[in-house]
Amino acid sequence: MSITAVNTAAPRQLATRIEALKRNLKGQVFLPLDDGYEAARRIWNAMIDKHPALIVRCASTSDVVRAVNFARDNGLPLAVRGGGHNIAGNALCDDGVVIDLSQMKSANVDPGSRRATIEGGATLADLDAATQVHGLATPLGINSTTGVAGLTLGGGFGWLSRKYGMTIDNLESAEVVTAAGEVLRASATEHPDLFWAIRGGGGNFGVVTRFEFRLHPVGPEVLSGLIVYPLSEAKSVLRQYREFIAQAPDELSVWAVLRQAPPLPFLPEKMHGKEIIALALIYAGDPARGEPLIGPLRKFGAAAGEHVGVQPYAAWQQAFDPLLTPGARNYWKSHNFSVLDDRLFDAVIEYIGKLPSPQCEIFFGALGGATTRPEPGSAAYAHRDVRFVMNVHGRWDDPADDERCIGWARDFFNASAPFASGGVYVNFLTADEVDRVRSAYGPNYDRLARVKRKYDPANLFRVNQNISPA
Ligand SMILES: Cc1cc2nc3c(=O)[nH]c(=O)nc-3n(C[C@H](O)[C@H](O)[C@H](O)COP(=O)(O)OP(=O)(O)OC[C@H]3O[C@@H](n4cnc5c(N)ncnc54)[C@H](O)[C@@H]3O)c2cc1C
Repeated sequence: MSITAVNTAAPRQLATRIEALKRNLKGQVFLPLDDGYEAARRIWNAMIDKHPALIVRCASTSDVVRAVNFARDNGLPLAVRGGGHNIAGNALCDDGVVIDLSQMKSANVDPGSRRATIEGGATLADLDAATQVHGLATPLGINSTTGVAGLTLGGGFGWLSRKYGMTIDNLESAEVVTAAGEVLRASATEHPDLFWAIRGGGGNFGVVTRFEFRLHPVGPEVLSGLIVYPLSEAKSVLRQYREFIAQAPDELSVWAVLRQAPPLPFLPEKMHGKEIIALALIYAGDPARGEPLIGPLRKFGAAAGEHVGVQPYAAWQQAFDPLLTPGARNYWKSHNFSVLDDRLFDAVIEYIGKLPSPQCEIFFGALGGATTRPEPGSAAYAHRDVRFVMNVHGRWDDPADDERCIGWARDFFNASAPFASGGVYVNFLTADEVDRVRSAYGPNYDRLARVKRKYDPANLFRVNQNISPA
């Protein structure tokens, strides 16, 4: 059957086809009444409550091909689950097929050529564990349970990005299962248009079953940690932070996080539960060189406490995991910034003063350095002028608090909009931001739409921040 001539199969016929699919798979299929279905449809954000018709937990690239063909030939919606972290819930769909890659995590590292290959269901922790054995790493995000796949396909940034670029800047090649069920290798020399598109265009172009990354010497021990100030010092700290990071070497990355203080042992007990600004830092080089460079961060005011030292890079990659566990309700809004305005700081401080739940926070992730050097058109990720990504992170447990917490995040988002650059990181979009998809892809949207037409003309891969085929 051609990909443009999809039909919805009648229920009895579909059941027979599901049985045939099961017989041919190495992996497993979960149907709504099966044991394991409920667990398999749970993802990081507890706000998402979707009921797929079947979840295909693939064990190999051939399984992925079978599942893609099955969804296409039966006219069913199709979603792809990598790490299941996407805030918008795009790992799942209602009444369709979910390709669940959570069992496809194997990694291979060649320390000689400094290359790692890893399957499409791996988490950041899986990749860091494999590469750090050799004292190597590639830039990833700041929460180790995030999926490598979704993070990479949107661009990807974290503690190493100022030094080594976005995650996509380190992608050497990828194995992609297309809407036609073909298995392609995309690289600078093989299907270069596809390779360009998957570096920032999200899951629009196929299922990536394997990524190949370039690696760099990192750690295994790095200078990293937190310096915490009370909220009363936040305006002055933010101003000094802005000046400091503009001059900082690429090796040094510092993010600013405003929230209520967790009960961290290095903070005086009277600070627990109080509003703070924390500077989270890492020096991605020789710790002895980093130590004098971080000195000024300690003198931004009267710090409430600090916990900075030389520790395994893999541990720092997991330092924020306890604050970002799965199962809570989450609603995020995000802006990009090329400069930080003093009036933005006033808005941040006002909204941190009225947090609707103890888990809500606002953070500024510092980009710059190597992330800004590639040409905006060199990969689908377009925001090379961005110096800071800000996220207002609404997070709470009780559904009764939905309206209050979502309202707080939206109000702050609106209050900070006048100072933002207009673009947004595609991986931080929520489900209700369809109107921002074009600004997420920016000037690369039309070229992406042409590549989409070539590889997915019927828009089979549409449960994502979708690009319509041109
Ligand atoms: C707690 C937390 C912290 C985060 N921190 C960072 C950070 O520091 N830096 C950063 O850059 N981002 C960060 N993110 C955002 C993150 O990059 C996105 O949520 C991303 O979508 C997660 O990828 P995933 O594979 O876990 O998601 P999923 O929900 O599984 O998938 C996300 C999207 O990618 C598609 N997809 C997934 N796997 C594949 C595949 N193999 N092939 C094709 N398409 C696929 C899905 O269809 C979906 O559209 C964070 C997110 C969370 C929740």
